Amino acid sequence: MNDTTRKFDTLLIANRGEIACRVMRTARRLGIKTVAVYSDADQNARHVREADEAVRLGPAPARESYLNIEAVIEAARRSGSGAVHPGYGFLSENGRFVEALEAAGITFIGPPASAIAAMGDKAAAKSRMAEAGVPLVPGYHGDDQSDGVLREQANRIGYPVMLKASAGGGGKGMRIVEREADFQAALESCRRESRASFGDDRMLIEKYLVRPRHVEVQVFCDRFGAGVYLFERDCSVQRRHQKVLEEAPAPHMTEELRAAMGEAAVRAAKEIGYVGAGTVEFLLDTDGAFYFMEMNTRLQVEHPVTEMVTGLDLVEWQLKVAMNEPLPCTQGELTLNGHSFEARLYAEDPANEFLPATGTLTRFALDLDGAGLVAERVRLDSGVEAGDAVSMHYDPMLAKLITHGSDRDAALATLNRALAALDVQGVVTNRAFLQRLAGHPAFKAAKLDTGFIERHHETLF
Ligand code: ADP
Repeated sequence: MNDTTRKFDTLLIANRGEIACRVMRTARRLGIKTVAVYSDADQNARHVREADEAVRLGPAPARESYLNIEAVIEAARRSGSGAVHPGYGFLSENGRFVEALEAAGITFIGPPASAIAAMGDKAAAKSRMAEAGVPLVPGYHGDDQSDGVLREQANRIGYPVMLKASAGGGGKGMRIVEREADFQAALESCRRESRASFGDDRMLIEKYLVRPRHVEVQVFCDRFGAGVYLFERDCSVQRRHQKVLEEAPAPHMTEELRAAMGEAAVRAAKEIGYVGAGTVEFLLDTDGAFYFMEMNTRLQVEHPVTEMVTGLDLVEWQLKVAMNEPLPCTQGELTLNGHSFEARLYAEDPANEFLPATGTLTRFALDLDGAGLVAERVRLDSGVEAGDAVSMHYDPMLAKLITHGSDRDAALATLNRALAALDVQGVVTNRAFLQRLAGHPAFKAAKLDTGFIERHHETLF
């Protein structure tokens, strides 16, 4: 922990796309100068155009640009940036990056490297959380990785089980195993995928919950030991374990459950000396029991739905905490107002196995007036504009469409109208798929669980 007061007037955003633009928006409002970084593929990108200054990092491949720690630190030095915001993805959860910034005397907008390390490994994180009394999915996260022990543990837990790469993330390195006869083959393929993706093949095993919901809690901690929860988000609508539609608050929550999950999340964060914005992910079982899954030690893609229902700017909170200010308010002062949805717009083709799409956006517009929508209820967080090229080098998410309403039905009606009013041409997107999801009767009825898309496959495709 660094306890010197660290004000900064120049902020480097070590990211691209919508999140870089979104972070800059708040920085600008607070009178902080913004510095963008870019790869050769992004020299004319929107985040570069919108920054006060921009520094080239290197060639298009991420490992030579956005993942190049030395290049990012050099860019921060050269531009006189006192702080770096990592966004999500790229270097946002890289402890080495945090330490290198520290050594260079530059403030990292995020938690200490030790907190990232504590949550970086799923098995180690689960051991820590068990000590802190945070409920875990029944399972095995031990060091003994021999085939025999893993198989025995799977039998003890009871099928179906889920195999997960301890070092995993992004929905990779996970397998559902239905019965013992399939265990060995699943273990081998999961280890292979895990080695290839993360250079590490340690596995953990969890009871596979049937039809759980993914409910996550937004937490915030300052450097003075205070921590609060900014309520929860339901991210159950997933495709291949990746989120597609999110909402806040989670439907069907009682005040008791909300408080129990919120308090468990703050306990988890405090256990590891957390500072800044973090998200504690839980699986919520059909019987109302909830289990810790993992903690994401950064700002999440879906943070805007929390902003819509709390009226807060989470990036502003991050910057204040990084400047050694106390949290702007206490738990008792936080309130929930209405309901919010977020839909992720991807350059991908649902008709062709969701393959990423490329091209030039000949049109990218949201006509609010034409659709009879009010600006306060609709937010489009976008990394692109008409005329921009979409390349194959990075994550294909183009933008996020976020809506607010006085209740769930109102916010959903607005989402449907806004999706219909979104006019994107030149690049194939998942817009029509999002419309079918958001317009689905079962989604309207909030019959949510992580199997939603699979179960409604026939009416969604
Ligand atoms: P990643 O770090 O790759 O995102 P997570 O551990 O967060 O992986 O899990 C991603 C998703 O996989 C969850 O949101 C949920 O839909 C599903 N999942 C994970 N663990 C289980 C489990 N034990 N039972 C049922 N579904 C699970």
